[in-house]
Amino acid sequence: TGANLLSLDGNLGVTIFEEMTTLAISSGAINLGQGFPDEDGPVEIKAAAQAAIAAGANQYAPGKGITELREAVAEHQLRFYGLTPDPQTEVVITTGATEAIAASLLAFIQPGDEVLTFEPFYDSYGALIGLAGAQHVTAPLTAPDFLPDLSRLEEAFSNRTKVVLLNNPHNPTGAVFPQEVLEKVVELARKYDAIIVSDEVYEHLTFGVTHIPVASLPGAAERTLTISSAGKTFSFTGWKIGWLSGPQDLVAAVRTVKQFLTYSSGTPFQSAIAVGLALPDTFYAGIAETLRRKRDILSEGLRAAGFNVFTPRGTYFINVDTEPLGIKDSVDLARRLPGLVGVAAIPVPVFCHPEGAQRTRSLLRFAFCKKTSVLEEAAERLATLK
Ligand code: GLN
Repeated sequence: TGANLLSLDGNLGVTIFEEMTTLAISSGAINLGQGFPDEDGPVEIKAAAQAAIAAGANQYAPGKGITELREAVAEHQLRFYGLTPDPQTEVVITTGATEAIAASLLAFIQPGDEVLTFEPFYDSYGALIGLAGAQHVTAPLTAPDFLPDLSRLEEAFSNRTKVVLLNNPHNPTGAVFPQEVLEKVVELARKYDAIIVSDEVYEHLTFGVTHIPVASLPGAAERTLTISSAGKTFSFTGWKIGWLSGPQDLVAAVRTVKQFLTYSSGTPFQSAIAVGLALPDTFYAGIAETLRRKRDILSEGLRAAGFNVFTPRGTYFINVDTEPLGIKDSVDLARRLPGLVGVAAIPVPVFCHPEGAQRTRSLLRFAFCKKTSVLEEAAERLATLK
């Protein structure tokens, strides 16, 4: 199963993120591995959480989430994408996007079914597909643009494909999928009668391209569950508030599973995120612009350090090829990098099955959701690698 890919050692104990963060802390390295911002999100959202706690919003929330937040999610889908989920029946609040992904897979998968993802894929996908007892089938994304070959995508579908687990914008590659790729996914999902679960946690973190939710394409809405998270949009990864929207019958199935995973999600944080989702368009444009500048600073530093840099159009991750530095094994480099120069990163092969790991063996992922001064310091340290 994918579960044995959880760490560099194939050790089920800790994820790659935990492992590299621990290494970064123990070696005093700058942590560009695990993707979390080093600055908190908007003060008005923090103040709203504090006010909710003070007002006594400290007991279980309804299983499907508090009304205010479900309504705010529906309004957000309307404001940005023209989608109109019913907040009563077509939205559910989850404990991070992680729970939304888990509940969606557990709701629809029977042992023996196939789940299709692109590869590399976010680590929890492989693990959850394994826990659900399904087969994990992948279609490769390859450098430099990390877009799928549409005929390879078609070959990856079969009569057993139950779920297409899409991630757009894509972690770890930073790809943002254009309309033609999404149209192909919808066409094939319809042909094989598969459900599309679309993880769009980086929906607002795009640079010069517009994010297209797959649910907005013709023929997609009735079979698509869309997932997002307050961790990415509002820089509160520790609050673990996520959400999912889609057609009533699919959302009802996810809600049933969610009851038995966590029952409900953090009450005061839900009201605070409702405040966040209502922030004006300028906030959303601002986070993308701030991150674009950070992306450019780190890209330049990585290029100057001698890496081949694949500039991402979305997310807060940059992938590089280490080959120009004469380094062929990014897993080995990731283990040594904190000691060598004081920077931690994540090797891309850990997001792959063995064949994909071979294909991506010299790729390394750096997170740029950090203060400018930290990125500049990391760039200086990396320059000493040559
Ligand atoms: N999504 C973050 C990343 O890709 C990490 C989240 C986690 O540690 N599970 O780096």
